[in-house]
Amino acid sequence: MKKVGLVFVIAVFVPSLVLAWLAVRSLRDQQFVLERQQSLLFQGVTDSLAKQAADSLDLRQSQFGAMVEEMYSQPPVGNVTKTFDTQLRAKWPVVEVGFVVTLSGNIVCPSPTSRPEAKAFCDNNNRFLSCAESAEVYWNTKQVVNTAGAANTLNSSQNILAQPSSSLGDNSRERAAQINAPQAPPSQAQSSQNYNADKRGWPTKVPQTRNVSPQQQQVDMPQGKAPAEQTPAFSKIASSEAEFCQLIGEANEGTLARFVENKLNVWFWCRYPRNGQLVFGAQLALRELGRELSSLVEQMEPALRGDICIALLDDAAKPVALSHPGFHANWKRPFVASEIGEALPHWEMAVYLLDPAKLTRSARTLKLTLGLLIGFLVLAIGIGSWLIVTDLDRQLTLARQKTDFVSNVSHELKTPLTSIRMFSELLAEGRVADAGKQRSYLGIITAETARLTRLINNVLDFARLERGEKKYNFQPCDLVGVVRETAETYRPHLETNGFKFECQLPETALMVNGDRDALAQIVVNLLSNAEKYSDTRKEIIVQIEQQTSPLPYAEARVLDRGLGVPNGCEGKIFEQFYRAHDSLSSGIQGSGLGLTLARQIARAHGGEVAYQSREGGGSCFVLRLPLKPV
Ligand code: ADP
Repeated sequence: MKKVGLVFVIAVFVPSLVLAWLAVRSLRDQQFVLERQQSLLFQGVTDSLAKQAADSLDLRQSQFGAMVEEMYSQPPVGNVTKTFDTQLRAKWPVVEVGFVVTLSGNIVCPSPTSRPEAKAFCDNNNRFLSCAESAEVYWNTKQVVNTAGAANTLNSSQNILAQPSSSLGDNSRERAAQINAPQAPPSQAQSSQNYNADKRGWPTKVPQTRNVSPQQQQVDMPQGKAPAEQTPAFSKIASSEAEFCQLIGEANEGTLARFVENKLNVWFWCRYPRNGQLVFGAQLALRELGRELSSLVEQMEPALRGDICIALLDDAAKPVALSHPGFHANWKRPFVASEIGEALPHWEMAVYLLDPAKLTRSARTLKLTLGLLIGFLVLAIGIGSWLIVTDLDRQLTLARQKTDFVSNVSHELKTPLTSIRMFSELLAEGRVADAGKQRSYLGIITAETARLTRLINNVLDFARLERGEKKYNFQPCDLVGVVRETAETYRPHLETNGFKFECQLPETALMVNGDRDALAQIVVNLLSNAEKYSDTRKEIIVQIEQQTSPLPYAEARVLDRGLGVPNGCEGKIFEQFYRAHDSLSSGIQGSGLGLTLARQIARAHGGEVAYQSREGGGSCFVLRLPLKPV
């Protein structure tokens, strides 16, 4: 049993507890896991929107090129370029200023005197456009023409950064040759860091902070570190210092953005197809552009509408467009955000949780549910283990009792058989001449045969009961009559063995519905026990009384002044094979089946057999049976 228990503890109980402990530990990270899942989901949304916005700008850039070509399809261009600003704004409301500049740095259009915006444009960009100064710019060009004249689609970030601005001459061809030099450093677009040119002209890494830091980075990490310390919020979009003519290089068109007096200026530009020396450009009205891009955030997936608000943030982290008009939040702390790119630096598509506490609530509910489930499972394992161990214990006890039973029954069979054989041989061989002795020997043989019969009947009845095959012949019978008859049959045997046997039975009949033989078997078993377990005081009394409460019933008692049932065994003596006085210590033979059978028969009659200790020593076994209504 100990070995089985040990195996059980090592193989089942300890592993279950360890698994439960691991599960409880993993519960602590649930909020982080949930946030991670959600941030991945929403990051996908912002990434896709940012890409759509970048594509939309790309499309507008191409449209701008086509528009210029259409406007100036008929040479000569001449003075027409002077009205470019007016014409372009008339065609395209998203344009703030239209400009035309020669590669030598001469601003052909707009005229600073035409309107205040034109004057501001010329004042702010005159030196930059004439390549008299370099500036921090974000840029993107297409279709670099290589020396063989073929056009390649290329992310232009590679070109200018390869060379120090001071080393570039005025000749664009010469610049283009330098641009395509093989030792070009990593592309600014490929890098998540900001590059500035160092003294040699190579870009140096300059971390640039973003306008916004995603909210999900601010929540408590499992390691307990402040998130800001873990992931500094750098912009993936990098600016570089360059001159205008450097940026144009050999490309046909592109975008260019730079901050002038803290205001973002975004340009589309393209070369005039028939005169490579002319560059046409458009400075965009960002408010108008934001309005055009707002349709992207408004068309958000309906499934997400109840959870998040999508915002298009400008370079100052102010919302330009919102999926939920009227929504307010700390705009610098979105849940997740994605930058749009070089064409619109520092503009972002950002996601805000409509109910930030919902995530914590969900995590708490999940934790609680999983915690309860783990608790329930551990409890189930505990109870299951306990049941298995107790059942195992019961089975082992039963197995031991069965072994004892076999040896007890063998003994019980052997003892009477020995007596019967011995006395019958004496009588058969005629070695006993005395008639009195002969009668006594015959009496012993009869008693031992009765004992054998009783034992075999008990064993057979027990087997029948176990298989559920025991049949009773229920009919109205007088319990007093059954008990008197059985007691009187047993009297000679008891008195021969020196017992004082008293029957205190009422004169009136007590009718019960029962099987006479089965009831007699109960009485015989009780009398036999009283005889077996009587020590020196050989007194047996049989009583019957009628009781009325709660219902009328008959109570038959068998009393002795014998050993009595040891304390703590009062209930167990009715269990199969259980013996409170085992054969070894007491020398009293038995099978442990007599009381089991007595109780089962009584219960089948709607009654009970119980034990009561007796004042002055000995036992009192009570048989109670319901009386048959008159
Ligand atoms: P057994 O064949 O061992 O007598 P029983 O089922 O009849 O089997 O009795 C179960 C146990 O109850 C006995 O082993 C004995 O210890 C105890 N017992 C039964 N009757 C008496 C009694 N009259 N006095 C003392 N102990 C008794």
